Amino acid sequence: MSDRQQGFDTLQIHAGAAPDPATGARQVPIYQSTAFVFKDAAHAARLFNLQEVGFIYSRLTNPTVAALAERITHLEGGVGGICCSSGHAAQIMALFPLMMPGCNVVASTRLYGGTYTQLTQTIKRFGWSAKLVDFDDLDAVKAAVDENTRAIFCESIANPGGYITDLDAIGKLADEVGLPLIVDNTSASPYLCNPIKHGATLVVHSTTKYLTGNGTVTGGAIVDSGKFDWGASGKFPSLAAPEPAYHGLNFYEALGPMAFTFHSIAVGLRDLGMTMNPQGAHYTLMGIETLSLRMRKHVDNAMKVANWLENDPRIESVTYAGLASSPYADRVPRICPNGAGALFTFAVKGGFDNCVKLIDSVELFSHVANLGDTRSLIIHSASTTHRQLSDEQRAAAGAADNVVRVSIGIEDADDIIADLDQALTKALA
Ligand SMILES: *Cc1c(COP(=O)(O)O)cnc(C)c1O
Repeated sequence: MSDRQQGFDTLQIHAGAAPDPATGARQVPIYQSTAFVFKDAAHAARLFNLQEVGFIYSRLTNPTVAALAERITHLEGGVGGICCSSGHAAQIMALFPLMMPGCNVVASTRLYGGTYTQLTQTIKRFGWSAKLVDFDDLDAVKAAVDENTRAIFCESIANPGGYITDLDAIGKLADEVGLPLIVDNTSASPYLCNPIKHGATLVVHSTTKYLTGNGTVTGGAIVDSGKFDWGASGKFPSLAAPEPAYHGLNFYEALGPMAFTFHSIAVGLRDLGMTMNPQGAHYTLMGIETLSLRMRKHVDNAMKVANWLENDPRIESVTYAGLASSPYADRVPRICPNGAGALFTFAVKGGFDNCVKLIDSVELFSHVANLGDTRSLIIHSASTTHRQLSDEQRAAAGAADNVVRVSIGIEDADDIIADLDQALTKALA
């Protein structure tokens, strides 16, 4: 093969995979095996010393899972990556090599609900903490960074309001303060946005969503840009000083740009065990082959539905960043050149009660707490995912009482619109 850089549509099918060397199988086999036989004692020793790359035990690496990790790494333009059991596992695994008790992460206020709870509550048990700030206020982000900050965290397209983070500005800020930027690229997918091009150090994904695309399995991934200098500040001893959890290996010295990836396998997956299973990786490999085709249709449909809703007298407002009326419309060509995704909210006249009636009247839409499925999905956050929050907290999170969130699928746009039309008629009757 030549050095020609292949396009996205080619990479999503071929990257990380070749005909199976043992059988010639064209599709990536599901290597449903816990362990892999060593050639001899010397081979085993080389593998454990990270002198040779190979398969030992599926909590660490597995050929099917490795094919998926390599494919996502290519699509994001990174140097290495790992897969995990879920998107939330990937987030913990991304922070794990960077953090110590007493350290904090500065994160955007606009986050997926589960991430909000993970960062503000659960990580406290590890002695970590998060400071949440408005990422449109760069001075506030900078002011939140202190000597114990070890990462900056945000989402490219933030759930649920269709908000697009100015990754160029945040990437530049992260550079200035010498910290890694972690971007959750779940809602955009690598087809719509490549955070590494905008300065991200690590990209995390819930592969549960668009990458798998059909709502079958949970999974997560981390891709490392390979660009961060872990040794410069002395703040990342797990990566750039002797790591006691791996017989004193200095990962950065030994492995350079692959330090984060190898640490994540040799220490993170080994000891935290948040491993993706090969069957799950198989489903995601199947889905990812059609990612760009699906995303084009998702975006196309979202534009049509958002436009229709914006012009309907029963609707108060629509938050889709693909609309010219969005305050974030100018960020789309720069940050998400292939489209603003397919996740947005709209406000229904008549508030809470009419939203509930709308949800109960849809027929094509599924009422679920998920996104990024081929199917169109709908949820009333105020009565479900954001139920425990106060009115003010709900409004700040983009989940006010009168707001419904949709994840637009790849059905016929006319059918999606017809379903919303009949449900709105019933809701406002
Ligand atoms: C779903 C989701 C997650 C969590 O992923 P799981 O696979 O459900 O653990 C994290 N971030 C975003 C943006 C998500 O949509």
